[in-house]
Amino acid sequence: MGVGLELHEKSEVNAFGPKFGLFDRVSTLFELVEKLPDEMSDAEVEGVLAVIPKETSKGLSAMLIPRLRDVSLIFLKTIGKWLRDAKNAPLEGKKSVLVPFCFPPEIVQAFDSAFPVTSEVLSTIGVIALEGQGERYFNMALGLGLPDHICSANAVEIGSMLGSDDFQPQAIISAAVGSCDINSKTHEMVSNYYGIPQFILEKPVDDTERGHPLYKKNFRRLVGQLEEFFDEELTEEKLRRVVEKANKASELMLELWDIHSAVPHPVPNLFALFTYGTRFAMWGTDEAITTMQAMVDTSKKRLKNGDYPAEKEVARCILSYTSYYFDLANLFNWMEEQGYSYIGDGLDLLWPTVIDTTDRDTMLDGLAMQAWNMPMTRQVGGHSMSMCWLEDLIHVAKMWSADCAIYSGHHSCKQTWSVSNIVRAELMNRINVPMLNLQGDSWLKRTTPISVIQKEIDEFIKNVVLPKRVGKKKVRKRA
Ligand code: SF4
Repeated sequence: MGVGLELHEKSEVNAFGPKFGLFDRVSTLFELVEKLPDEMSDAEVEGVLAVIPKETSKGLSAMLIPRLRDVSLIFLKTIGKWLRDAKNAPLEGKKSVLVPFCFPPEIVQAFDSAFPVTSEVLSTIGVIALEGQGERYFNMALGLGLPDHICSANAVEIGSMLGSDDFQPQAIISAAVGSCDINSKTHEMVSNYYGIPQFILEKPVDDTERGHPLYKKNFRRLVGQLEEFFDEELTEEKLRRVVEKANKASELMLELWDIHSAVPHPVPNLFALFTYGTRFAMWGTDEAITTMQAMVDTSKKRLKNGDYPAEKEVARCILSYTSYYFDLANLFNWMEEQGYSYIGDGLDLLWPTVIDTTDRDTMLDGLAMQAWNMPMTRQVGGHSMSMCWLEDLIHVAKMWSADCAIYSGHHSCKQTWSVSNIVRAELMNRINVPMLNLQGDSWLKRTTPISVIQKEIDEFIKNVVLPKRVGKKKVRKRA
């Protein structure tokens, strides 16, 4: 294995053979995506989709449907820029740091000599855009002896890293300690395997006045360790450079949160994924601002014109934790065409705030609290997993007038499975919102096919959500 994100000699293998890593393949694909024009006609899109592999074409065509095309191209180019920067990082003397999705990447962006690469974002891009999707890399992880209950969210990328000649980071930041055992152990194993340092940000399961200062202290210790490792001081100016941009993107996300309340839902379903894809990879950059701005503008336009892709909005749904990423067209777009608005999922519940930029201390405190509020850390790593998760769901369900919640039942997530029935019962008891518990894997298509997922969502909405709504009206009438 080489060091850094360099591409390695692969002349002995087929370009789509199993030894060719996920990072190499997605970064090569996105070199093409970055070259696409900002505006494309249907014929041009058709032409591009015809010359790329079938599953790649399927993933991209879901994003390039006419009603989403402009914003999707901006989002795809943002991801393309991120991949290009990651690939060039070692050439520019930067150290690549593997971070989890629950860590604010802007803190790494603030260093001149480092670049953040988010495991779960890489896995998701691979599942959406590569021929063979995530299965081949997940299989590599199992082939290397990792257990079959690891989380595919990161195991797809980790499998590629360990099982092929793909990139290797120079350090790992683990922010899942205290919220997800399997995420923490998987990254710890990679750190031991490669002999690279792992920097840990531990969250106390204490949401009281005592917990926040301790977490801020842990956060500052992490920053100090990074400064030592990169041999670079994280000055106030460097922090301000990224925090000001992160603040702008957070303001736009808050604007989008307001727009979510409108009926019918003016925000295209796929924007739920674009929002956190941008947040987990590019926060603190100009590209993140451009992408968020494009989503806000399109949603406002739809709101103004009353545009909605289906004849009418039938139900407003919140996915309570992760989604399904292996068939975007047949989940997000399909739901939208049925009139089932997908307002957001658990990964959108990251409570953006605008950070006080007065000085280094206020910015570090603000970033620490952003890290605290990242999805999974905030809910699954809370003092009570079910209650923290439930409180957030109740808040957004009321704010966005949701009719129902859907739990994807992500196969690997023993954590959330352990309390999903409590959450379901309490959502119903407290705010009369039913929750569907599905079974499936968010990143692997072989666990439950999308046709089964569609059928279950459809039956749930028709047989549970809609009759309940009619019942509510009847009760109101009688009263
Ligand atoms: S989805 Fe579940 S298992 Fe996977 S990283 Fe999140 S909490 Fe951990």
